[in-house]
Amino acid sequence: MNQSMKLAIVVPCFNEVEVLPLSAPRLREVVDIMVAQNLISAESFILFVNDGSRDATWTAIRGLHAGWPAFRGLDLSKNVGQQNATIAGMELAVDQGADAVVTIDADLQDNPEDIIKMVRLFLEGNDVVYGVHSARDTDSFMKRFTADAFYKLQRKLGTESVYNHSEFRLMSARVIREFAKYGERNMYLRGIIPLIGYDSAILNCERHPRLAGTTKYSYRKLTGIALDAITSFSEKPIFMILTLGIIFVAIAVGIGIYVAVSLWHGIAVHGWASTMLSIWLVGGLNLLATGLVGTYVGKIYIESKHRPRYHIKDKI
Ligand code: UDP
Ligand code: MG
Repeated sequence: MNQSMKLAIVVPCFNEVEVLPLSAPRLREVVDIMVAQNLISAESFILFVNDGSRDATWTAIRGLHAGWPAFRGLDLSKNVGQQNATIAGMELAVDQGADAVVTIDADLQDNPEDIIKMVRLFLEGNDVVYGVHSARDTDSFMKRFTADAFYKLQRKLGTESVYNHSEFRLMSARVIREFAKYGERNMYLRGIIPLIGYDSAILNCERHPRLAGTTKYSYRKLTGIALDAITSFSEKPIFMILTLGIIFVAIAVGIGIYVAVSLWHGIAVHGWASTMLSIWLVGGLNLLATGLVGTYVGKIYIESKHRPRYHIKDKI
């Protein structure tokens, strides 16, 4: 088939020292199978991106490289988050001559064998293959619920995204080079990649529990990402607040008329409860709106600085 196609598997790693000894051999196995089947060239490689881990992850990656040179490593100067670490890996992999890049989490919650199916879909002419998991049985109820609600909200807000798609994805070198033209710093890969276009396919895959170690995401971190995803792509929240504002002003006018009529008829002034209520309601709405607008202004502020996404410390 296509012996010349050079594949890179990019694996972001943050404090993954427990899981690497388990996941690295399984990824190697998959590469060996594909090389044996002539699906990919023997020059293909697995690139671990150390995202400023505070444990011995980088030492572990160096050890892997010493054992098999196709295990490569990229050491970032500090923790920049999964998105930026993945981007760093994608860009380096293309620089190193990869024709296609698969990104997969270090904990192998996604099936490494599915990479073979992704590569086949790539060889059939797809520039992007989205890994989509049908069931989330292995995630906690809370995580499932919040993830579901998030996807639905995104859709309502008009962001194009692939339902239940994680960061398990194949991208051609061409897509990654086009991606590099998107200069924004508030990056949400899952939203950007569909914007680039080209032919794409969806691969349904299972999602498993982590092989070892614990999740690197707290709900706080997840909320940050969700907010980022919405405010980076949609101005609808601003319009929603505006509509709400109009409705509340209309209600206020109604109340004003009611008060005027009450006074005309000489009815005693009503209790302070309604007054207090409106103060709190309007105050709260004000804060909400200001916060929301502030979020966008904050983004403009960040974007205007054009700061680099990551800094490289070492490569092997
Ligand atoms: N990760 C990273 N930088 C971070 C947080 C996470 O590179 O700041 C990596 C992590 O090592 C893993 C992937 O992102 O390979 C997904 O993280 P995790 O499995 O902890 O997330 P979950 O599956 O629980 O959503
Ligand atoms: Mg995980």
